[in-house]
Amino acid sequence: MPADPPPRECDVAVVGAGIVGLAVARELARRHDGIRIAVLEREPRIAAHQTSHSSGVIHAGIYYRPGSLKARLCVAGARELYAYCDEHAIPARRSGKLIVATEPKELEPLAELERRGAENGVPGLRRLGPDELHEVEPHVTGIAGLHSPQTGTVDFAGVAAAYAADLAESGGTVTGACPVAAISEESGGAAIRHRLGTTRAPAVVICAGAWSDRLAVAAGAPAEPRIVPFRGAYLRLRPQRSHLVRASVYPVPDPELPFLGAHLTRGPDGSVLLGPSALLVGARDAYALGRLRSADLRETLGWPGTWRLMRRHWRAALVELSHAASRRAFVAEAQRFVPTLRPADFVAGPSGIRAQAVARDGSLVDDFVVSRTERALYVRNAPSPAATSSLPLGRLIADRLRPLLAR
Ligand SMILES: Cc1cc2nc3c(=O)[nH]c(=O)nc-3n(C[C@H](O)[C@H](O)[C@H](O)COP(=O)(O)OP(=O)(O)OC[C@H]3O[C@@H](n4cnc5c(N)ncnc54)[C@H](O)[C@@H]3O)c2cc1C
Repeated sequence: MPADPPPRECDVAVVGAGIVGLAVARELARRHDGIRIAVLEREPRIAAHQTSHSSGVIHAGIYYRPGSLKARLCVAGARELYAYCDEHAIPARRSGKLIVATEPKELEPLAELERRGAENGVPGLRRLGPDELHEVEPHVTGIAGLHSPQTGTVDFAGVAAAYAADLAESGGTVTGACPVAAISEESGGAAIRHRLGTTRAPAVVICAGAWSDRLAVAAGAPAEPRIVPFRGAYLRLRPQRSHLVRASVYPVPDPELPFLGAHLTRGPDGSVLLGPSALLVGARDAYALGRLRSADLRETLGWPGTWRLMRRHWRAALVELSHAASRRAFVAEAQRFVPTLRPADFVAGPSGIRAQAVARDGSLVDDFVVSRTERALYVRNAPSPAATSSLPLGRLIADRLRPLLAR
């Protein structure tokens, strides 16, 4: 990234160089010839947070409520992302995924996923009986499954780098090590105060991931929802045991939670990860489990939604704590569908922090949320599958920005 400070004036400033911010900036540059776009990023490199700490799964669009933004943008996003990766020689594998029911009580939720997938237009979904599971994943056992051949994997940080290259080709800039401290709206535009000075623009888009609520609330956007950081830890399957998983194997998720459950995924580099867990943590960058930041903790505990969430989901929270405390407990999740796995087959893996929005009533906000002030659009909730959906999500945000650019 260039060491120069960002421009003092531009047409659109984008805060955050994760996959969403870069997709928005790239889309604007494609639409408006000669537009001056400046992306401001707090870290010295792009895609430093969620974008480079995910499962790397190109979701097909099965789980999401029909008609929701997630459902629409994920199905379109997967299709467009495969095409984009083909064009840009980015390795993306349509390796497929199996969702496995291991107990009778999971059959109805599995049938609901099949209905949702069909309604959302997910291509190629197929219901499997217990014997057919082995044809797809020889080491999996269960009582039923749903196979999605269009699910795949990719390195999302590589995709983000390609978006940044497209932007640079159109004359846009990305400046790293440039945290934005405040945004104030003034007549005809906004002043964005950052470490390297002030940039003024008629329109601003904030795609700040785990920090997305902070700038929004300070600038007078709605107080709700707030980000509560959930750490997702992974275990890595030892290479000599990685033949136990061909592609991706997922459990039937808890319909009460927006998380998909700890799964086994073979990434684009061929290694297999188990995870992610979903543990509420005390810092928005708690990549190390014990990291606490007093401001983050204050905000999390000061938000009434956090306490209501804990009251509602205390059982799930205890299970997550047990996964953090014991490898045996974590691996037991995967043994339900791959019984030959053993705790000794795994070593510690990476972790990521989900930027999950929580409403005041304690509900985990499920869909993507973008809120608006006079001069700015704030992406307030862009959890999974926002990386998969990044191309159409970038278009949707560019569409919503149009009235701000016209004035
Ligand atoms: C464990 C885990 C697994 C996941 N698995 C998948 C998956 O398999 N498939 C999928 O589609 N999605 C997955 N996701 C979700 C996906 O990673 C995110 O939806 C996506 O990366 C969001 O992109 P983003 O650009 O909004 O956020 P980020 O990538 O977090 O980017 C936000 C950027 O804003 C910057 N920023 C923050 N504050 C400021 C500031 N004040 N000034 C300047 N810059 C700032 C940050 O440094 C960061 O670079 C997963 C996420 C996690 C955590």
